[in-house]
Amino acid sequence: TRLYGECDPMNYEALLTDAEQGELLKLRAFLETDAKPLLADYWERGEFPAQLIKPMAALDLITPASLTVGGAKPRSLYEGFRNFELARTDASLATYYNGQSGLFRTTVLRGGSEDQAKAWLPLIDSFEMTGVFALTEPEHGSDIAGGLVTSARRNGNNWVINGQKRWIGNAVFADYLAVLARDVADSQIKAFLVKTDAPGVTMKNIGGKMSLRMVQNSDISLDNVEVTEEFRLARINSFADVADLLRSMRSGVAWFAAGVQAGAYEAALKYAGEREQFGRPISGFQMVQDKLVGMLGNTIASLGMVVRLSQQQDEGVYRDQDSAMAKAWTCSRMRETVASAREIAGGNGILLSNDVGRFFADAEAIYTYEGTKEINTLVVGRAITGRSAFTK
Ligand code: FAD
Repeated sequence: TRLYGECDPMNYEALLTDAEQGELLKLRAFLETDAKPLLADYWERGEFPAQLIKPMAALDLITPASLTVGGAKPRSLYEGFRNFELARTDASLATYYNGQSGLFRTTVLRGGSEDQAKAWLPLIDSFEMTGVFALTEPEHGSDIAGGLVTSARRNGNNWVINGQKRWIGNAVFADYLAVLARDVADSQIKAFLVKTDAPGVTMKNIGGKMSLRMVQNSDISLDNVEVTEEFRLARINSFADVADLLRSMRSGVAWFAAGVQAGAYEAALKYAGEREQFGRPISGFQMVQDKLVGMLGNTIASLGMVVRLSQQQDEGVYRDQDSAMAKAWTCSRMRETVASAREIAGGNGILLSNDVGRFFADAEAIYTYEGTKEINTLVVGRAITGRSAFTK
């Protein structure tokens, strides 16, 4: 049997090993049984089903025993399909899980010293140490590279951090914030693991969202927060080091865009086969078929792009412009695909009881986070023309 037969007719899943597919099936069973029944209700309430956090952690999907035999590391391709599987069911759950397995873990893995990574990664993989990525600020989103104003001042073995962060996902459930701040001494960007309950840290939930309503995003104030040098990530010493993190994070979000399309396509295909108008299933109408085929084409093409990106990641040859291209392009296709799904479901397409409404709304946040379409386009544009359109 195939994992993704309907939405993966070109059989990209064949690139996965049996052990990798086994881990994804474990995740699927959890999503179908434990998560799905809760989604519409929690989305409407704007709350995260916190009771899912422990069982999700217990699935042990970050460095599962079956994929780490003899010291092996899970492949990016497996990690990509893990994001695909999550997003195919729900983008908020995907965002939550990837906050730990992607954003926070990547920051410690690539930003920490060998000793820091050795000490913390096992705890991160088991969710005994949870964390989030805190880069964006109220006044600086797209221009964060040059604009970041949160400051870090060294005082003996301590650092004192002051500033504000915005949109930080999952912070309310986390032990640590990976805070990016500018060192007042050399003006370079550094990263610190700040305890969420440290004196001087305050968080305020951002309410009233029309997308990813289950994800808890916070405005965070850091007011003379003290961190010891041991909690400064040793290998982040400039924005170029942060860009290295973003390269990997953007690849993860491009996989979400493929997964959301797969979920929306499957839901729309099912609906179109069941709903009858003019005495026959709407899937028999040419214009509905045109939409379904367009959605499937978008999904296949997105999947092909992210599969190849992850293979390049595994080969260690992928570049900033490649992950920026994948993020921007798959997210644009995602917007088309979820809009078609919503149309096919007619009036029911705006109801939460029908999955396509949730996919449609959630796609908007994915389209924007990890760099907007414009910003990722400019990263690619700079690479292909040799001219930066960011600067005045
Ligand atoms: P702005 O930068 O103000 O952009 C507004 C518009 O102007 C956009 O369309 C943009 O593309 C356009 N624009 C800006 N500059 C240019 C230009 N030079 N050329 C053309 N167009 C331009 N951040 C974190 O650090 N951690 C998180 O966990 C996190 N989670 C998030 C979760 C959600 C649900 C959301 C919505 C955001 C999250 N973010 C997070 C922040 C996210 O990365 C930013 O929202 C994003 O980078 C865009 O920044 P902005 O919202 O400030 O928009």
